Amino acid sequence: MSRPETKHDGLIVPPPATPSRSVSIFGATGSVGTSTLDLIRLNPSAYRIVALTANSDAEGLARLAREFSAEVAVIGDPARHDALVAALEGSGTRAWSGPQALLDAADLDADWTMAAIVGCAGLAPIMRSLLRGRSVALANKEALVSSGALMIEAARSSGATLLPVDSEHNAIFQCLAGASYDHVESITLTASGGPFRTWTHDQMRAARPDQAVAHPNWSMGAKISVDSATMFNKGLELIEAHHLFPVGLDAIRILVHPQSVIHSMVEYRDRSTLAQLGSPDMKIPIASALAWPQRIPTQCLPLDLATIGQLTFEPLDDVRFPGPGICRAAIAAGGGAPAILNAANEIAVAAFLAGEIGFLDIATIVSLVLAGYSPAEPQCLQDVLAIDSEARACATAAIRTRN
Ligand code: NDP
Repeated sequence: MSRPETKHDGLIVPPPATPSRSVSIFGATGSVGTSTLDLIRLNPSAYRIVALTANSDAEGLARLAREFSAEVAVIGDPARHDALVAALEGSGTRAWSGPQALLDAADLDADWTMAAIVGCAGLAPIMRSLLRGRSVALANKEALVSSGALMIEAARSSGATLLPVDSEHNAIFQCLAGASYDHVESITLTASGGPFRTWTHDQMRAARPDQAVAHPNWSMGAKISVDSATMFNKGLELIEAHHLFPVGLDAIRILVHPQSVIHSMVEYRDRSTLAQLGSPDMKIPIASALAWPQRIPTQCLPLDLATIGQLTFEPLDDVRFPGPGICRAAIAAGGGAPAILNAANEIAVAAFLAGEIGFLDIATIVSLVLAGYSPAEPQCLQDVLAIDSEARACATAAIRTRN
């Protein structure tokens, strides 16, 4: 793995200074989207909303569009178009629908875009925003996992800004603080261990969806909550970190830290280690990306270490949690493996949430699909989307066969 001569190497560039920042939020009705709008609500005159998007929650989207006087509201599911038009009547917000409308929304001029659609469905709008040279705050890890080097290259070639929002990657970004990758010895991604950290294998076999989404520290959408329970989330974050911070895959480690206070660490060559700490509240990394390179106040709880008392750490149990190892092998395999892995995981998680497969079947399905075929390195967005679509079909077939 080669190291760039200068940190960020055109990937992270200062956003334009404007008195009021124009903002688009993709996935506005979700957990990250609403947290972003909560921050904007604290200082509404500093931001102007260009576009808000959702998939099917037309009423929720229209409510937000009215409150923030959005120029455009986009619903991904065309079947929800009429509901959105009705809910926006008399508001002055334009109602758009369908996948092409998501791309059209990415074409609109916005100083800062939050990429918080869940899953590979968010990939095409992110790529469009990056190719337009926008500032993109990246929450949607699945899009980067699937497209990998293509997304980084899109940002680099257009001079776009890519700001990590995932709490771990935002922590690393803050700990790097302009340092050269040449000075970095290792990066440690911390992991809470999720709701099943102390469960036995047999208990995990019988785990129900409501238990899997009950994360001990973080309040998040259903898909990422299940990913946290399987710890595939940490594996996806490993791949995300590999692309965002090119220090070499072997230099990126995972450490279980149940309190979720230290969000990640960077160890330098001189053995000095910098960590970023904070309450487990996604509004903190979102605020960091929203204001970057400035800082804005939030209403998040201050970090009270005296009350917390103890910070503890333990190694990852890769027998009960094979997800991170499967992800590490997929990135090492290269080609289309990460896109296959991500698609299979999305289908398996949806099947688990729908009660169609057991909790431990998620990793089995992902491994089966990954072993099934190995396409060449995707060369363009269409290649990634084709691999994604084929892997989804394989995963669906594997689930059907299993049942
Ligand atoms: P949610 O499920 O809460 O929200 C997802 C959002 O995406 C909703 O607005 C949803 O619309 C929209 N959406 C879903 N499917 C589609 C689609 N096919 N086309 C267009 N829009 C779609 O997810 P989260 O906010 O939890 O997560 C968003 C992303 O951020 C994920 O990639 C996750 O991994 C990442 N992330 C989340 C964190 C968190 O704390 N939640 C932390 C770190 C990263 P609708 O409401 O209509 O369904």
